[in-house]
Amino acid sequence: MDEVLVATDVRREYGETVALDGVSLSAHAGEVLALVGPNGAGKTTLVRALTGTTDAEGDVELFGTPPTAVDRDRIGLLPQSFTPAERLTARELVTYYAGLYDETLSVDDVLADVGLAGSAGTAYENLSGGQQRRVCVATALINDPDLLVLDEPTTGIDPAGRRALWDLLEGLADRGVTIVVTTHYMEEAHRLADRVGLLADGRLVALDDPDALVAEHGGTSLLVVEGTFDEATPERIDYPAEMSLRNGSLLVAGVRPEAIAGVVDALEDAGVAYDSLTWRQPDLEDVYLELTGTAVGQRGEPHQDELPAGGLA
Ligand code: ADP
Repeated sequence: MDEVLVATDVRREYGETVALDGVSLSAHAGEVLALVGPNGAGKTTLVRALTGTTDAEGDVELFGTPPTAVDRDRIGLLPQSFTPAERLTARELVTYYAGLYDETLSVDDVLADVGLAGSAGTAYENLSGGQQRRVCVATALINDPDLLVLDEPTTGIDPAGRRALWDLLEGLADRGVTIVVTTHYMEEAHRLADRVGLLADGRLVALDDPDALVAEHGGTSLLVVEGTFDEATPERIDYPAEMSLRNGSLLVAGVRPEAIAGVVDALEDAGVAYDSLTWRQPDLEDVYLELTGTAVGQRGEPHQDELPAGGLA
């Protein structure tokens, strides 16, 4: 398969901090690769190393060329912190970035693609946080890149806007665009990526198809019991399943849906009060926890209080 991106043993230290501890990965044409991990895992440093915007040890090639020498018309990059001129309108900003390239897509088409057709004439500073992020995504798309590298593109975008962006990215990948995207949302990585790379402390602890990762490392289905428990609670419940406490919740492993009533009975028999019960299949968050011993802590949709000031898109 055509490898668009090949990184070998990439390392980056900042003083005492090892930001990247020997990461190797590759991505082929049309592949969506998601890099996942909690804050500080090394995602941004890896994106910067892959795009030649930080000095790193090791070897990176994009289209067979070092990143600093690659034809920039072929790359679309959305850095994590990207603050364009705030007084310009969405259309003016994307037009400005279009001016950096020989050939571009239509500015209005790209703004429509990211869901901003109706806000093209609005000044960046007057857009919501989610709309601002979409303008930034548009600047990365305007040169119709073959490789798109997006560092947390959906941060601040509301759930509907995120799903629209996923559809857009999937459409691009179907046309052969290679996409490297970082996120701390596990659901996003699972939904979007052909392969997910799990980063922890500067290391790539796994890189595979998300379904394969869950099947191999996710464990069994779980009943999640929310309430106020103490360390002795699991031992008090007389039910033949593995029980544990995680982040204050009581987890009952390996419960099939038809067995939920039996667990409810066992909780009642033990006099254990609870607020809610949720049955779910294992997911990438479980994989991350299994492989690293720590949680990314971002299962599912972002909560309202995670959205930046400026509100919903
Ligand atoms: P992530 O994107 O996953 O949040 P980063 O790549 O930003 O992770 O950071 C990885 C580690 O490197 C962190 O410990 C961070 O504090 C450190 N780091 C990143 N950039 C710098 C920098 N410019 N100077 C010093 N330390 C840095």
